[in-house]
This record gives sequence, C-alpha cells and structure tokens, in this order.
Amino acid sequence: MPKISGGCLCGQLRYESDAEPAMTAVCHCPDCQRQTGTSFSIVVGLPRAALQITGDAALYTTTGESGAAVHRYFCGRCGSPMYTLPDALPDVAFIKAGTLDDPSWLRPQTEFFCDTAQPWVSLAGDWAREPRNPPLG
Ligand SMILES: [Zn+2]
Ligand SMILES: [Zn+2]
Repeated sequence: MPKISGGCLCGQLRYESDAEPAMTAVCHCPDCQRQTGTSFSIVVGLPRAALQITGDAALYTTTGESGAAVHRYFCGRCGSPMYTLPDALPDVAFIKAGTLDDPSWLRPQTEFFCDTAQPWVSLAGDWAREPRNPPLG
C-alpha cells in the first residue's frame, strides 16, 4: 500500500507516493486562489522522487515570487488541480490535498501568504503563519 494516493475528479489522473509527507501547508497566495477557484489551497509536500503519476496531466506554469517557475499540473479533462513542482524547490512536489483518497490524517502545519488571505478566513490551529513565502532552507 502506498502511504499516499489520490486522484482527480474524473479519475484519469492519479498519483501515489511511498514516502511520508514532509509537510502540510495552507497557501493563501493569489495564484492558488485562482487556480483552485476558492480561497486557499492545502498542499502536502513530498520528496519529488517518490511521486508516481498515472494518466495525463496538463500543465500551466506561473512565476513564483522568487522569480522561479512554478509548474502547476492539473487534469485537462475535469480541471482538478493536482500537484505543483516549483523550480525553487527542485526536490519537492506539492500535492493539492483536496485530491487525497484519504484526507483523514491531514493537519496543516503552517500557513503561507497570510498577507493575501481573504479577510474572513481564520483557521483554528496553533501553527506557524508566514506573511508570504516560507523561509526556504
Ligand atoms: Zn480528471
Ligand atoms: Zn499558493
């Protein structure tokens, strides 16, 4: 059994990973709001080498705040945002947590881009809140 698995709304695009998630974060950046069509995204960071994809992913690349490319993969059939590969973090893949088969273990550890959060969004939780990008390191 993979440790993590998930898929898009129509089911043609699937992923799995045998690696444990490295981190879970809420992102309030404007690009995540647009891409997901809602107020924030929830992402699970994984070692990129552990991510196994089946199906056809469509790609739209944006530019992150650092100036590096952010490759946002989605299902071209049903439109579900699926995973993001940022050039600034070449060893990390971020899964959109709404696509997990089993989200029961999900618990954010941090929020990014709180400066651009919708003003009425207030998530309960004792975790780190970054005004913009997390400190990378
Ligand atoms: Zn789909
Ligand atoms: Zn974001």
